[in-house]
Amino acid sequence: MEVIFLGTGTSQGIPIIGSKHPVCLSENPKDKRLRVSVLVKWEGYNILIDCGPDFRMQMLANPVESLDAILYTHEHNDHTAGLDDIRPFFFRQGDIPIFAHKRVLESLRKRFEYIFTSTNKYPGAPGVIEHEIVNEAFYFKDLKITPIDFKHNRLQVFGFRLKDFAYLTDLKSIEEKEVQKLDGVKVLVITALRIEPHHSHLNLEEALEFIARVKPEKAYLTHISHLLGFHDEVQQKLPENVYVAYDNLKIHI
Ligand SMILES: [Zn+2]
Repeated sequence: MEVIFLGTGTSQGIPIIGSKHPVCLSENPKDKRLRVSVLVKWEGYNILIDCGPDFRMQMLANPVESLDAILYTHEHNDHTAGLDDIRPFFFRQGDIPIFAHKRVLESLRKRFEYIFTSTNKYPGAPGVIEHEIVNEAFYFKDLKITPIDFKHNRLQVFGFRLKDFAYLTDLKSIEEKEVQKLDGVKVLVITALRIEPHHSHLNLEEALEFIARVKPEKAYLTHISHLLGFHDEVQQKLPENVYVAYDNLKIHI
């Protein structure tokens, strides 16, 4: 399994438009962050987790020729706004399977009504096959996918475990029984928004505590704000098995 970090930034991305913050002005490519998403490559299939506003640029940067499934963590715009841009995949492949919580599917149906309508569909609109998921393991082909249920402030969000890889973004609080689903995971990706506490994301200190609890072989920080600091400086202060993720980073699990 290969995982490509397509985007590792928080909702505004880095740089923030018009910002003069030193991290936003950094010329290090590792400090430039599109909105969060990962691509999981497994047995020749491309499985996307979240499809945000930078989806098109992410597909061009990597480059991705086919898309086999989209898993959604939650409905916030930085995770969903790119749905219209699946069109090139739809034109080549037909309807694209999407997997999401019932509430997230309802939100997508409202916001992308022209994609989900069954009557009088606009020519050129993409098509999707909806799969509603609950907090129980499900399968894409032979791949077992285990949702991990947690809270982003008060909003329910799903993380996903795929074999030895787990991806938990936009996490603030989680019950012990959900943490137990991460037992034995080798690679953990976790939100670490910034240094200061935040109402809906783990900050760096909380993310490091969470990693110490789960004890993966390696952990990667994502959903990063410019307020976390420069990539290279933050990286130097982290434990040996913890890495600040950056856009286009590829890892093998
Ligand atoms: Zn987010």
